[in-house]
Amino acid sequence: MSLSVSLQSLADYNPERVKDALHLLLEPLGGIDRYVKPGQKVLIKPNLLAGKTPEKAVTTHPEIVRQVILMVQQAGGIASVGDSPGLGKPENVARKCGVFEVIESTGARFALFDESVPINLEAGTFHHLEVAREALETDIIINLPKLKTHQMMGYTGAVKNLFGLVVGMRKVRLHLQAGTDKEFFALMLLELAERFKPALSIMDAVVGMEGNGPGNGDPVQIGALLASPHLVALDTVATAMVNLSEQRVWTQMVARKTGRLGVSLDELDLHGVPLATLQTSRFRPAKNSDINFGLPIPVKNILKNTITAQPTITQACQQCGHCVTHCPPEAMTIDPSETTTLDTQQVKIDYNRCIRCFCCQELCPHNAITTQQGMILRLLDFIQGSKK
Ligand code: SF4
Ligand code: SF4
Repeated sequence: MSLSVSLQSLADYNPERVKDALHLLLEPLGGIDRYVKPGQKVLIKPNLLAGKTPEKAVTTHPEIVRQVILMVQQAGGIASVGDSPGLGKPENVARKCGVFEVIESTGARFALFDESVPINLEAGTFHHLEVAREALETDIIINLPKLKTHQMMGYTGAVKNLFGLVVGMRKVRLHLQAGTDKEFFALMLLELAERFKPALSIMDAVVGMEGNGPGNGDPVQIGALLASPHLVALDTVATAMVNLSEQRVWTQMVARKTGRLGVSLDELDLHGVPLATLQTSRFRPAKNSDINFGLPIPVKNILKNTITAQPTITQACQQCGHCVTHCPPEAMTIDPSETTTLDTQQVKIDYNRCIRCFCCQELCPHNAITTQQGMILRLLDFIQGSKK
């Protein structure tokens, strides 16, 4: 089986340059006509994590979405666009990040993502999942991830982007089910992505996000577009491009451990611009938030405060309460009656209940949550850093 990944360089989101780069990108993979047939319903799934402007690099850039819609329509497909954000109504989020205007101007349909339908995964980690109805009623999915760091999973790309098919607060329940077990959560992400198996994934890595991702990191120029029909293979190339080691990316680690294809570069057929010309060693990963050397979960739980990182509320907190309502194990509380001083915050975290999912940090609209590493984790990071 050939696992093809195509790469192109792209310096900015100028419409003509995006259009040309997308055509060059898809050419070695057989062009858009290979994936989209006339009359097919095509669900385009960008990353619409939160209502931020495109410059913040939180969401897939609207120009990429526009050009992909146009390609789908030219191939005779019926395009709809949708995602379930972490916070806020899908339409409001799509408006703020510029994607709604693109949908309207191209005549595509806005997929509401307001109704969940249960699906039965015959075998696997999660036997019962609920996803957006639109994901089941489409003929094919085209996945449009954004290359970003992710405080919990290390990285979000082709595989992780499909988690947005789970509607609203149901995502929170899945986090709760996985608890502190990141392997379990990564396996669920892989199974979900494989169940929906997009016909094609096209990654926006023109400007990605480094540091405190996926919601509050820093935009970083990478200058690339990537595409593949194979999710894991695409993530393998994308993470190699920004020098993120497999040990930092939970979905990649679990993909290898479970014998999935596409985790090694030498298994892949690369096309287009050579990977070496797009690689950067300056990409800043998310802070390491867990020791990944396979300690049993009960031991990990006992040592939790020293071997993991924990979210910490800063003085930038505006007491909006979003983190509190989205915290899966309800480990956060807010007491508006408390007086806030410069040294104390109203939002409190019970670290014994906290499962280190970093949903709070991801969703905080004021970038008011930082990551503080436990003592042993800090020491190990220091030792590993000094060996480089
Ligand atoms: S930490 Fe962020 S999300 Fe939580 S209450 Fe403060 S501002 Fe709101
Ligand atoms: S406090 Fe934050 S990291 Fe901890 S469980 Fe709640 S949302 Fe997750």
